[in-house]
Amino acid sequence: MGKYPRLTVDHNELRSNMKQIVDWCKDAGIEVAGVIKATTGMVSVALDYESSGAKWIASSRLEQLRRAKDEGVKIPLMMIRVPMISEIPEMITICDWSLQSEFSTIKALNEEASNAGKIHSVILMADLGDLREGFFEIEELVDVSKYIEEKCDAVHLAGIGTNLGCYGSVVPTKEKMQQLVDYAETIESAIGRRLEIISGGATSSLMPVFDGVMPERINHLRIGAVAMCGPMEDLKQNYGRDEVDVLSGDGFILEAEVIEVKTKPSHPIGELGVDAFGKKRKYKDRGMRQRALLAVGRQDHGDIDNIIPIAEGVEVIGASGDHTILDIEDCRDIIRVGDVMKFRLSYSGLLYLSSSENVSVNEVDRLYGIKI
Ligand SMILES: *Cc1c(COP(=O)(O)O)cnc(C)c1O
Repeated sequence: MGKYPRLTVDHNELRSNMKQIVDWCKDAGIEVAGVIKATTGMVSVALDYESSGAKWIASSRLEQLRRAKDEGVKIPLMMIRVPMISEIPEMITICDWSLQSEFSTIKALNEEASNAGKIHSVILMADLGDLREGFFEIEELVDVSKYIEEKCDAVHLAGIGTNLGCYGSVVPTKEKMQQLVDYAETIESAIGRRLEIISGGATSSLMPVFDGVMPERINHLRIGAVAMCGPMEDLKQNYGRDEVDVLSGDGFILEAEVIEVKTKPSHPIGELGVDAFGKKRKYKDRGMRQRALLAVGRQDHGDIDNIIPIAEGVEVIGASGDHTILDIEDCRDIIRVGDVMKFRLSYSGLLYLSSSENVSVNEVDRLYGIKI
């Protein structure tokens, strides 16, 4: 495999991001699970999060948690995509924590864990309106909690949690967070003890932390996106808080090699049908423009919005599976064939690039003397 396209991971930036997030949360009485799924489970990133104060490493994929366990992560691992019944036997050998939302899965989990002589801790998910995973009716949540408490010898009910801003785009307001606390307190009266964990969500639930309105009993968040991509525009639009500006967006950088530089018309010539992905497109005629072609494509980065050029005056104007086209007419640097262009990444860009087998990974850690 060639050197490019290449994803450079700067561990110093990632550790300082996670330290900052852990500090913000600590001040609000919240512990952090560091979520590694957007990196396709890079263990080096999990180790950064561990050394920066995260109390769990979390992922939506068992194979990523398996690698974390095998390669030296010491803190507890948490499965945050509610598990398939078929993966429970494997799950209990890898991690002792999971999110749950189905009675039948919990029963299967209890049986497997009991046979294996393990205690598995669960956080029951409450769906507060975002409409992905979670119990929708509080009555069902209470019934299942009582069942676990009274009937399960190998499943421990650690607490409840919620997920917002994923399918339904629902914002984690103070009211939603309070609703979760109310649910927890209803369960606590039913089972006659306090729950250890009330997990208020993901990166988007930093908003009520920044605003100082997070209810005191929310004591757990599962943070991925902002720790990895920092104050990227897509995150700022979603979470809209300037606080994230102190985080670094340089933890992950894409480097791609220029394979053609030519001046061409900006409007296609001929009768127009559809592009490489079957879409009808509109093209603006801006006259002749200098463009650079990169050896990286949508198979690697997903789409052009996912990569943000670092050089000024460079615009990503299109991509097919294996090519990306840049308009470099307004760029002051001279760009030649063989040059390497750098890009910051959106969350989805990182998700795609880290899982592409065409993209090599370059790890940088100044603490340990590895430089770019
Ligand atoms: C992905 C995920 C998270 C982390 O979300 P970010 O937006 O990356 O912080 C947390 N909880 C669950 C259940 C998830 O699936």
